[in-house]
Amino acid sequence: MKLIKVAPYFMRRRILPQPYPHLVGQIAIVILILLMGANRVDSLRPVNYAPKLLPLEVAPVEQTVSQHTDISLARLERLQENTKRQIERDRLPPDIYHAVPEPYRGQIVRSLPLASGDRAIALTFDDGPSPYTTQILDILHEHNIQASFFVLGRVLSTYPELLQRIVAEGHILGNHTWSHPYVVKSDALAYQEIEQTAELIYQYTHVRTQLFRPPGGYLNNALTPYATAQNYAITMWSVDSSDYFLPREGIIQRVLNGVHPGAIVLLHDGGGPRHHTVAALPTIIKELREQGYEFVTVPELMERSQAAATQASDDP
Ligand code: ZN
Repeated sequence: MKLIKVAPYFMRRRILPQPYPHLVGQIAIVILILLMGANRVDSLRPVNYAPKLLPLEVAPVEQTVSQHTDISLARLERLQENTKRQIERDRLPPDIYHAVPEPYRGQIVRSLPLASGDRAIALTFDDGPSPYTTQILDILHEHNIQASFFVLGRVLSTYPELLQRIVAEGHILGNHTWSHPYVVKSDALAYQEIEQTAELIYQYTHVRTQLFRPPGGYLNNALTPYATAQNYAITMWSVDSSDYFLPREGIIQRVLNGVHPGAIVLLHDGGGPRHHTVAALPTIIKELREQGYEFVTVPELMERSQAAATQASDDP
């Protein structure tokens, strides 16, 4: 407002040409009014609240279709892969458990008490497979006998077909470590010796065994605590054939003299020349059969012993 009042004053002070003082003042006023009016009109204009839309990316139909086709094909391929993998899994033979009855898991077993009149024994063969295993399997097959084989991990890849034959003919596998060490000081080494062997047994035969025999029967090292913790039955023996140093006659005598119902008999099919064992075996079988002995696997001997114990505790 001040400006409107003072404008004509400056006109009169001859800042602008004299003859038009009022006209100039009036023009200035009109301009000012117009400017103010323009501002007002601007502020009255409605605000546009419509959201700003991003520009649409319009893909051509062909491109969209091919995109969908690619996704569908990828899905189909995944489905096909999964089906293939399932078929592979189904084709594998099922796992075979060479398990022991619950009371013997984590226990040391030397022989198994049986019901009176039961004359079962278990023949066990250690340190194989080896070329002698073939002859021993032939003899056992001929006499229709099932035995238990405590195998060494380090020789399995040399005789995988013998390992598979042992299983196929109904015998039982036991873990006898990888390298047959007598001194095992660390848990890590015990783990390696037992687990590597268990893994290779499984790879070749799909057998998971719960039998473990410590090399040389030495219980005083890290192997036994580890095997015990893993629920293996620590399977020792009650009759040592001494076939690792005796000739045929000596082996036969050792077994026949030591045998008793529920006995676990130690023999060897590997770890050295075993022709004495091979030569002694038919006579041992023949003599013991004549004495009324029956040959079973270690787990079966355990089952019979457990059944006998259960029956004894049930009797008044
Ligand atoms: Zn051995």
